[in-house]
Amino acid sequence: MSEGGTTRRQMPAHASIVSEVFVSRSTAQSGATSPAAPLRSDLLVSPLYSRDSDHPGLRPMPASDTDGPAFWQTTPLTAMSTEQWESLCDGCGKCCLNKYADEETGAMRYTSVACVLLDQEQCRCADYEHRAQRVSDCVTLTPATLRNPTWLPETCAYRRLAEGRPLPDWHPLLTGDPASVFRAGHTVYGRVHSERDIDNPMLFLIDWVQ
Ligand code: SF4
Repeated sequence: MSEGGTTRRQMPAHASIVSEVFVSRSTAQSGATSPAAPLRSDLLVSPLYSRDSDHPGLRPMPASDTDGPAFWQTTPLTAMSTEQWESLCDGCGKCCLNKYADEETGAMRYTSVACVLLDQEQCRCADYEHRAQRVSDCVTLTPATLRNPTWLPETCAYRRLAEGRPLPDWHPLLTGDPASVFRAGHTVYGRVHSERDIDNPMLFLIDWVQ
C-alpha cells in the first residue's frame, strides 16, 4: 500500500473472509511485491521482556492518583480528559495490523502485516499527527467509534472499558510500569512485517492477536 492510498486489496479465494480490508489504525485520542522479511524470532522470547528498561518503545507513565478509585473506573470514556484518554493506550501496536472480518461470524482475523506508518521499534504511529491524512482508512478512536469496539484487539483498553470490562492486569496504568506490556508479551515488537513488503496480507493470518 502506498501512503495515503487505498487499503483495499485483491483477496484470494478464501470463502470465509469478506473482501473488505479493515486496516484500522487507531491511536488513542486516542503497501510492494518483495518476499516477506524474516520475522525477528530472536525478539519473540523472554529476553525481550527482561531488558525492558532500555526498550525503545517505553514511554513515560502519566501521573496517577493514589487515593480512591482510578479514573478509568469512575470516569466514562465520554468524559475523560485528553491526558486520561491517551494514557489508556498501552502501546501494544496491535490495532495497527491489517485485519479482516470473517463474513460468517464477523470475527476479526488479524495478520502480522503492519501499517506502513507503524514504527516497529516504538510500537507507535510514526506520524501520529498526520496519520489520517497519510492513511485514508486510519480510524481515530473516539467514543463514537467505540460504540461497537469488537474490531479492536480483545486486550485493548478502549475496547475493554467500552465493554464494561477491567483493564488487563499487565496494563501499565495498573502496574505503574510502562514495560509491563512488553514483559507480558502483548506488543507487536519483533513480530510483524511492514505492509511495504507484503503483497497479500491474507497469507499472514495470525492467532496471537484476537
Ligand atoms: S490496540 Fe493497543 S496500541 Fe491500539 S489503541 Fe488499543 S491499546 Fe493502544
